[in-house]
Amino acid sequence: MIVMKFGGTSVESAEAIERVAKIVASRGKRSPVVVVSAMAKVTDQLVAMGQQASSGNCEVALESLQALRQRHHLTAGELLGKKRAATLAPKLEARFSELENFLRGLAAVRELTPRGSDFLLSFGELLSSLIVADAFIVRGLNAAWVDSRECLVTDASHTRAVPQMAETRERCAKKIAPLISRKQIPLMGGFIAATAQGVPTTLGRGGSDYSAAILGAALDAESIEIWTDVEGMMTTDPRLCPAAKTIKQISFNEAAELAYFGAKVLHPATLLPAIHQNIPVYVLNSRNLKSTGTEITAQAPPSKDTFRAITAKTGISIVNVVASRGIMVHGFLRSVFEALDRHSTSVDIVAISEVSMSFTMETRRLPKALLTELEELADVTPEDKQAIICLVGEDIHGKPGIAASVFNTVAESGVNIRMISQGASEINISFVVQESDVPKAVRHLHEHFFPAAGQVKLGRTKVKTNGSPRRSQAPESKSRQTERKPLVAKSKSAERKAAGAS
Ligand code: ASP
Ligand code: MG
Repeated sequence: MIVMKFGGTSVESAEAIERVAKIVASRGKRSPVVVVSAMAKVTDQLVAMGQQASSGNCEVALESLQALRQRHHLTAGELLGKKRAATLAPKLEARFSELENFLRGLAAVRELTPRGSDFLLSFGELLSSLIVADAFIVRGLNAAWVDSRECLVTDASHTRAVPQMAETRERCAKKIAPLISRKQIPLMGGFIAATAQGVPTTLGRGGSDYSAAILGAALDAESIEIWTDVEGMMTTDPRLCPAAKTIKQISFNEAAELAYFGAKVLHPATLLPAIHQNIPVYVLNSRNLKSTGTEITAQAPPSKDTFRAITAKTGISIVNVVASRGIMVHGFLRSVFEALDRHSTSVDIVAISEVSMSFTMETRRLPKALLTELEELADVTPEDKQAIICLVGEDIHGKPGIAASVFNTVAESGVNIRMISQGASEINISFVVQESDVPKAVRHLHEHFFPAAGQVKLGRTKVKTNGSPRRSQAPESKSRQTERKPLVAKSKSAERKAAGAS
């Protein structure tokens, strides 16, 4: 038995749903259970409607409701033909009138609670799953629509509810397993669930992947397939570097690191229920039926390339904090960290020397009040338009020469490095450059670390090989053996040494 999840873009239109039916049909023999998201953008629209209604703009919210209604009926009509669409229409209408009543209620009380928000957002997946189930049936697939709220049990932390696995397992055994034994294809909306008492909840935005992982774990699936609109996880962003290729296999930790540093395909934390049970997760392209995609497992076989992937996260600020004269050094660091704590700021990379400290964080999350507070302690210079480039690979620790070749490659591309971090997680090397330098640096690094088949780049010359690519063996500035887990990033001078920069 396998779980197949299709995201918003995979069910955004009749044409897309048509493709989904074909993909599921191709897996018919493997007893698929299907999870779908709301049609693309619908959840965002529901959020907006909630805000409008609860701030008194009920008419505007109802106009959006009308557009939503038309889109769903239109899609159903295109997929189902007149007769079948006419039998589905009242079921959709029942949901729309429920939604309309709710919006009017919001406008009356002028308040949208987290509990209300979960109820509101549940409509996206309810509507899409009803349409997809009928589209399957019309195409000869023996689909059975299942109400996710009767199967996925969570606690009551609305908007980010936590699954209760034991109860979920029981419910799935009762509601879903019998359908599978009858050779039916259970089909349900992702993202939505309910408490044991039946109060609707959601698993947090983007939560359909989470639903798929929870179901996979609860039903002891052989594998979980996450169908998206890209060719799996890539060695880097193909928009930055057309030579990017699909990563065939990746470990859960590597995938998590990539997501944190900018890869947007999926949120690996949501896969944890499956990973804990050793169920492999595949990320596949719904626009390409033959896609083999990326396999994510708890442990992945070593890659033949040094790294698994390179990501870039833009929109970063560096904040340099230099102690004013006369401040005790240990007191200085403590005060800076306390200030960060008071503002609940989480930083990405930190570099510390005796009297100065630099940290990075997303510019949009940098609180002005934090800067004001730090200015009382020190000289503070924030610099925006920076980016973090991160190279991820589980096999890099304990191997000499890797950092040196990363920084040599960046130096060769003529890009200046502002900050470096290596070792904190053992599976990544990350550094900060100016945002505008990202394409150049990433392209160079990708060319160096992911050479096209049969070619490996050593320094500036390309050498033909007939086996696996060789790695350059330049010594690193410090032995990794004695420096397995530095608490903070390397200093600027170590960086210059390593990069051989002038
Ligand atoms: N529809 C939900 C969202 O947009 C869940 C999902 O798509 O995964 O957040
Ligand atoms: Mg998603």
